[in-house]
Amino acid sequence: MGNTDTLDEVFKRFESVSQIFRDREVLRHDYLPLSLPHREEQICLLAEIVAPVLKGARSSNIFIYGKTGTGKTAVTKHVLTRLELKSKELGAAVRFSYVNCRMASSEYRVFACLCQSLGISVPFTGLSVGEVFDRFRISLQASRTLFIIILDEIDALLKGRGDAFLYELTRVNETLEGSKVSLIGISNDLRMKEYLDPRVLSSLSEEEIVFRPYDAAELRNILQERASVAFFDGVLPDGTLGLCAALAAAEHGDARRALDLLRVAGEVGERQGSTIISEDHVREAEKHIEHNRIAEAVQNLTLHSKLVLLGVFHVNRLGVQSAATGEIFDVYGELCGELGIPALTQRRLCSLVNELDAMGLLNSKVVSMGRYGRTKKIRLELARTTVKEVFARDARLASLTEYEPTSVEKRSYRS
Ligand code: ADP
Ligand code: MG
Repeated sequence: MGNTDTLDEVFKRFESVSQIFRDREVLRHDYLPLSLPHREEQICLLAEIVAPVLKGARSSNIFIYGKTGTGKTAVTKHVLTRLELKSKELGAAVRFSYVNCRMASSEYRVFACLCQSLGISVPFTGLSVGEVFDRFRISLQASRTLFIIILDEIDALLKGRGDAFLYELTRVNETLEGSKVSLIGISNDLRMKEYLDPRVLSSLSEEEIVFRPYDAAELRNILQERASVAFFDGVLPDGTLGLCAALAAAEHGDARRALDLLRVAGEVGERQGSTIISEDHVREAEKHIEHNRIAEAVQNLTLHSKLVLLGVFHVNRLGVQSAATGEIFDVYGELCGELGIPALTQRRLCSLVNELDAMGLLNSKVVSMGRYGRTKKIRLELARTTVKEVFARDARLASLTEYEPTSVEKRSYRS
């Protein structure tokens, strides 16, 4: 390539600089805006509860809950960042540790993160959870600080695993001298309280802060502030902004959803070479997001759930709109055979079907067959192209979308 060609390339890249986004980063999930409208009450309350640490007193444990996208993480980080600055200014012996339990994904990793924030490193594996906890307690004791632990998305860790680690944490003050721990637990799941051991719950929720969903008008204000930084002037008509707010409010008042719609709509507009973001771009964005959400859900299924889904996919593909359970299980069995793995029992399969139904990937309903009793009819609730697309990325399963099942043809069943 000659010099001129290279320069042409460079200039071309500058030519195609966005006409839409002034600063795309502002719409990212983890961007912390300077102000958080409509959360003044929660911000003040949280600040009042944690402030005693500035005077050397342990602050109460706090349980924060509300649906996703209601600003729990943003508000907590906002307040704690300010508190950290203030405590440095005053020379208060306060330390902070923020752990996202969903990302940490195990008790071991949560304690390892806590150790890390006290400056001790823990091997990635190899110790028992108890040993990691002991190391944490010993270094905490030695640090002589007020230690504020924020456990975000705590529900992700508690479901199915129990709350033994939380129990240990809520009791740790009893064995500490000179240091004290305060906990801030954040949950996206409002029913979390039902899962918790009453002793853990009462200790964790010395104080409670509830984040209710935003309504359309509130989402509008939130979007407006972000959009004025994210987009060039005149790019975002009022109607478009209102539509994003209305769609997100109709879901469950989720600010993250509203911001996603806005960002993706901007990207759609940009790709089309438009200089404004239209309501059509938002509708398009909605489809993109929904598609990605479904594709991600399918991708994260366990192997057998994927095979059940593929069973429905094939029966569907062969012209049976809603198939009987038996038929799907036959095809599923064939697919297991292809992979050389043992098939699950009918009973397990039925519960997988129910799970897929609850996720909205399948629709199953019980129909009466007259004197032949009742059977379950199952229908695929997502586009077959989506199934193909997701499985195409999976080396082991890709070829199974082309598989020709024998059990379906034999019956030539149509409904
Ligand atoms: P949660 O933790 O409750 O799921 P987040 O705090 O992560 O919700 O908020 C989701 C997104 O919405 C983040 O990008 C956050 O910055 C933004 N957000 C939430 N509430 C507000 C608000 N009141 N003002 C501005 N942005 C907000
Ligand atoms: Mg959060």
